[in-house]
Amino acid sequence: MNLVLLGKPGAGKGYVSEMLKDEYNFYHISTGNLCRQNIKNNTDLGRLASEYVKNGDLVPLEIILNMLKNEIVSNSGANFIFDGFPRTREQAKELEKLVSIDAVILVDVNDDIILNRIAKRRICPNCSKLYILDEVKNEECPICKVKLIIRADDNLEVAEKRIKLYNQETKPLIEYYKNKIYTLDNSKDLDNTKKLIKEITERIYAKVKENV
Ligand code: AMP
Repeated sequence: MNLVLLGKPGAGKGYVSEMLKDEYNFYHISTGNLCRQNIKNNTDLGRLASEYVKNGDLVPLEIILNMLKNEIVSNSGANFIFDGFPRTREQAKELEKLVSIDAVILVDVNDDIILNRIAKRRICPNCSKLYILDEVKNEECPICKVKLIIRADDNLEVAEKRIKLYNQETKPLIEYYKNKIYTLDNSKDLDNTKKLIKEITERIYAKVKENV
């Protein structure tokens, strides 16, 4: 079974992915993480993607697809969660050529909460895991024990641009996936989110079973 996570930057797609990965054994593909890893490792793809990521622009399709295909091929047979892909209708069509998508979860929160979360968001420079400052001690990654840093694209100006881009390019995918979309309200606390993820996942499994 393959899932797509839709949602604005900072909506909590990463957190939802982590939960689904741990509880339901999905393989998590985040195209944002793939970009950051390639940039960090100074690969050819990373050098091509770097300026777009820094400025909050969409990385051109061929570059993103190249990263995505490598990841799908090297984990073939897995159940995938796609986080941050697709971001456009064109990307959704490309994804359909690679795998079938069973369900789409829309991680929903309002812009005020998002901007507040982005301001408090930090990333581990070693494992790339994202944290909200309130969740960690001493601004340190609890796994790698290194100081967390601010993501280059997590400043207010770039965040607002990315939200605008989401509204223009990605929001239309809600209509595109209307027959398989489930909305997850991620504006409350983590326990509530966990409960909602469980409910939605059970509904998705039941629906997929029905259609077999
Ligand atoms: P994210 O971690 O999903 O917020 O992505 C961080 C950045 O990576 C985005 O602002 C884009 O520059 C780039 N990126 C990630 N996914 C895509 C995608 N599907 N298409 C184009 N660019 C992307």
